Amino acid sequence: MDDNMKSEMIKNFKSRNIEVSFFETLEEAKDRMIELIPPDSSVGVGNSKTLKDMNISKLLKERGNIVFDKTLAENKAESEQVKKKSLLADWYITGTNAVSKEGHIVNIDHSGNRAAAMIYGPDNVIIVIGRNKICGTLDDAVKRARNISAPMNAKRAGYNPPCLQLNRCIDCKSDERVCFNLVIIEGQFVKDRMKLFIVDEEAGF
Ligand code: SF4
Repeated sequence: MDDNMKSEMIKNFKSRNIEVSFFETLEEAKDRMIELIPPDSSVGVGNSKTLKDMNISKLLKERGNIVFDKTLAENKAESEQVKKKSLLADWYITGTNAVSKEGHIVNIDHSGNRAAAMIYGPDNVIIVIGRNKICGTLDDAVKRARNISAPMNAKRAGYNPPCLQLNRCIDCKSDERVCFNLVIIEGQFVKDRMKLFIVDEEAGF
């Protein structure tokens, strides 16, 4: 990631009240998250391969944070409760599917709990992405979410929509559909509520 691109993204996201920070590695981003989140706060965790790779839920739990991570739930009922509690956590940490250099954050979600918590509820939101999620324009970011993220998420979750075979979205109405919510975050009303951590590694999908 060159310095011009970094400056452009910092400026564009700042104009939308979102703070951007760049990190060389996921490890550095993780250290900064641990530093920022107070140990006595509650933390909702979005289902994200990037966060899984960081092992962040375990670290936060070990030092005393109350963590709402649906992937640690023992059954579906508990998972539903955890998703709802995440909406009122002090902090919410998550990945996302694509960002544009212009300053958009694009999410493609199944039930929408992740996008809901990003938009409203938690007082602080940290979004972590690898450089592979950076797209030029909003249009490119939406295409990435539909044609790359959705099929890979479907595969991870054990669904089989048409995009999994075709590697592109055909706007299906399949029972196996994994993308009932396509959410574009244009900015934030509350300045710096949302922080975007961009890591100079390939991470997540
Ligand atoms: S609408 Fe269907 S084909 Fe398109 S991304 Fe969603 S699940 Fe895949």
